[in-house]
Amino acid sequence: MKVKAMMINPLPDEDGYHIFECDNCHNIFLLDLSGFEHQNDIFCPFCGKNGNIITFTNKIREKIFQDHQIEMENVNNLTSDQIKELILVDDVEVIEYNVNEIVDIANYVMYEFICCDKFIKINKNSYKMVKYCCYCKGEVLYLDSEN
Ligand SMILES: [Zn+2]
Ligand SMILES: [Zn+2]
Repeated sequence: MKVKAMMINPLPDEDGYHIFECDNCHNIFLLDLSGFEHQNDIFCPFCGKNGNIITFTNKIREKIFQDHQIEMENVNNLTSDQIKELILVDDVEVIEYNVNEIVDIANYVMYEFICCDKFIKINKNSYKMVKYCCYCKGEVLYLDSEN
């Protein structure tokens, strides 16, 4: 039996932001990955858990795989070199998805981390839930405007 491997290729939104889901608190946030190395740490802006591009996209990839009724095991045990070989022999089916298939991007707003001079996008309803900078894990402080 021929096992066909599946690859998932996430497409960013129109501003170049990719979608991530924390595997700890399950909140979603979008990051601009330009200038970002794959091994760089990412911190969840909501709970502060550290992870990376892989750990923060596992849940999303699972959903996409399920949507395509594909067993994760097909690719889980392959090394990236094996996957590259498969691509060369055209045995990998590449599934592309964009941010709008996961969330309604119209509900997402820019959020600035002053410490790192970087932006993320979050659901406008979770604006006050941001506690940590995704890049340096610096704590975000909110000044109470009533005082
Ligand atoms: Zn989290
Ligand atoms: Zn920072």
